[in-house]
Amino acid sequence: MTIKSFHPPQRTLMGPGPSDVNPRVLEALGRPTIGHLDPLFVGMMDEVKGLLQYAFQTRNELTMPVSAPGSAGMESCFVNLVEPGDKVIICQNGVFGGRMKENVERCGGVAVMVQDDWGRAVDPQKLEDALKANRDTKVVAFVHAETSTGAQSDVKTLVEIAHRYDALTIVDAVTSLAGTTLLVDEWDVDAIYSGTQKCLSCTPGLSPVSFNERALEKIKQRKHKVQSWFMDLNLVMGYWGSGIKRSYHHTAPVNALYGLHEALVILNEEGLANAWARHHKYHLALRAGIEAMGLSFVVPEAERLPQLNAVTLPAGVDDAQVRSMLLNEYQLEIGAGLGVMAGKVWRIGLMGHTCNNRNVLLCLHALDDVLGRLKAPITRGVAVAAAQQKLAE
Ligand SMILES: *Cc1c(COP(=O)(O)O)cnc(C)c1O
Repeated sequence: MTIKSFHPPQRTLMGPGPSDVNPRVLEALGRPTIGHLDPLFVGMMDEVKGLLQYAFQTRNELTMPVSAPGSAGMESCFVNLVEPGDKVIICQNGVFGGRMKENVERCGGVAVMVQDDWGRAVDPQKLEDALKANRDTKVVAFVHAETSTGAQSDVKTLVEIAHRYDALTIVDAVTSLAGTTLLVDEWDVDAIYSGTQKCLSCTPGLSPVSFNERALEKIKQRKHKVQSWFMDLNLVMGYWGSGIKRSYHHTAPVNALYGLHEALVILNEEGLANAWARHHKYHLALRAGIEAMGLSFVVPEAERLPQLNAVTLPAGVDDAQVRSMLLNEYQLEIGAGLGVMAGKVWRIGLMGHTCNNRNVLLCLHALDDVLGRLKAPITRGVAVAAAQQKLAE
């Protein structure tokens, strides 16, 4: 057997990530590789920082992409801000809060879990109660956009509460960045991480992070070395920091950063507020079609994310069979439920480049067709028209 070059098919990615990558980003990835200390490359890195500050709406000097996927951004925040013995409150309302707990414990911290129902936003009152009962809490962490359920939490309120009790905040914005309103400075978030493969519509593998002065102060006052050499911001800053001669830390993923640069240029051209509005608009169109079909959303309306739509399966339908028909017949990927929601919900992503007119209609048509042939209890032939009507309003 000879192994040949790999040529993936052209799919439409409407799952929880990765999302469709803009062709301009794919083209940028194939440009000539230059040295990572080449002055031209260093100049591009500075532009990436500036564009990320725009995307996060922050002036934080320490804003940069970690050279690894969103999970590494998460780890970067925890290993730098949590010291052995530190108490950390984690508000969990889905899968990703569980990973935060793992991170805290591996840093030698003490995780205090505040549980909310899956499919709901984090409850600020529960956080306040937990802080009253744990006055020695050093850090509060939670997910802005819970990709496992499609719920959106109120970052501004949660950060305000944490600060009243002198705790720093770590916010997961992997799915929210560029898809829904996120104002890092105005909301006074201390440390935040995101990913490139969701609403930025870049390839997977990089994790934008941002730390404010309060977070930097905590890092400078650490008594213990950060246990991860690669993630230690004291060292990474020598590479990404500005106004200093860049010193070798690791070899930046040169071409991946061309891709991120292009994705951020595209976001800048569209304008952040326009990108948020676009996600909202197509979410409403998708919703009109889904509801016309007779299917329902998992998350209450006021707590719903536009870019991740968790929809309950119709009765008697086999989850995996539907998704494989969509993939094979329509080249369309939607996401399965995670954890307690496995087999019960689909997660339909409308992230970044994926979030457009054509894909909303394609997804509704494909679901209508496949579910109809499987004799699922849905109202047939109405979803596409309902979405079109919403778009015409
Ligand atoms: C996708 C995701 C992550 C992890 O990002 P990777 O790029 O897969 O490592 C973390 N948190 C949330 C909320 C996510 O949606």
